Amino acid sequence: VKDKILSLKENERFVSFEFFPPKTDTGFCNLLARLNRMSALNPLFITVTWGAGGSTSEKSLDLATTCQKDVGVTTILHLTCTNTNKSVIDQALKKAKENGIKNVLALRGDPPRTEEYWTPDCDFSNAEDLVKYIRETHGDYFCIGVAGYPEGHVDGADTRNQSPEKDIPYLIRKVQAGADFIITQLFYDASKFLKYEALLRSHDELKDIILIPGLMPVTTYSVFKRATKLSHASVPDDIAQKLQESSVDDDLVKELGVDIVTKIIKEINAKTNNRIKGYHFYCLNLEKSVASIMNRSDVLRPIMEAPSNLNENENAIESDT
Ligand code: FAD
Repeated sequence: VKDKILSLKENERFVSFEFFPPKTDTGFCNLLARLNRMSALNPLFITVTWGAGGSTSEKSLDLATTCQKDVGVTTILHLTCTNTNKSVIDQALKKAKENGIKNVLALRGDPPRTEEYWTPDCDFSNAEDLVKYIRETHGDYFCIGVAGYPEGHVDGADTRNQSPEKDIPYLIRKVQAGADFIITQLFYDASKFLKYEALLRSHDELKDIILIPGLMPVTTYSVFKRATKLSHASVPDDIAQKLQESSVDDDLVKELGVDIVTKIIKEINAKTNNRIKGYHFYCLNLEKSVASIMNRSDVLRPIMEAPSNLNENENAIESDT
């Protein structure tokens, strides 16, 4: 992934998509059809999520293998390292390697839901340990990404220490341990991302690191509320008001969501002087909003026709996952 990003031309921009493994075989089949359609949007890479503690390990590995081998798109396997042990990580890396997957996103994982204050008790305490472990055991074979938080990382509901500045020393440690790029938590306030980028660039160790903003299209009002609550992403007043006023009209919410995310991309692109080369979409296994954003943004090459109906045919996946 790093090489692909570094080889982009000056004005070229990429997109990438996150998928999660569906729970059922029917969901998997539906997703496969969608993946084939979404590969027409020409993503630079696809990422596949990993359930906390390795709870989806088999399904994640199956989906990642399908994306890499059958769909033929460069795939990043997410891996979380807490509430698990080295043998699970070893197995996952082995299987990834056997199936041609050369990229991983090294994450700590969230604390168990019931525990607000939590001391990890296993082979790994944080993502830095996982980055180190992958480099120790596999050298340079894997290109490694890590997570970044434009508004600061928060464990559970305790926002007392939420600040990007607090995370910086640990982000530096992740990069020094061997991380090649950073994908951010979702955000809806472009100014928070721009400040974060400036903060990173003010540290020698982070000034050249590849930084990829993470964006979540708005699918429904309730999903938007849940995602912003869980991620502690702040929502600018104008966006909050617009979405709230339209909250009962799913079509309108989606349409507004396309405008909101398109505007964020245009602003970041205009203000970062070619330093941000692409945009990662938490697409929730759905395609229409992403395709519309790409078509509307000018920045991202319009590759296929914008869908006329944003809701069309998306229920099969949603009901499964
Ligand atoms: P870390 O980098 O380890 O940081 C966690 C916290 O600990 C931060 O507050 C940091 O400042 C602090 N910290 C780090 N090192 C130290 C240290 N040595 N001493 C003291 N404090 C330290 N979760 C999943 O379960 N599955 C997924 O597939 C998944 N994908 C994700 C993808 C992206 C792009 C992002 C942004 C998040 C994803 N998550 C996923 C969520 C992630 O697991 C959680 O946000 C988790 O709580 C933190 O993971 P991390 O890798 O950022 O942790």
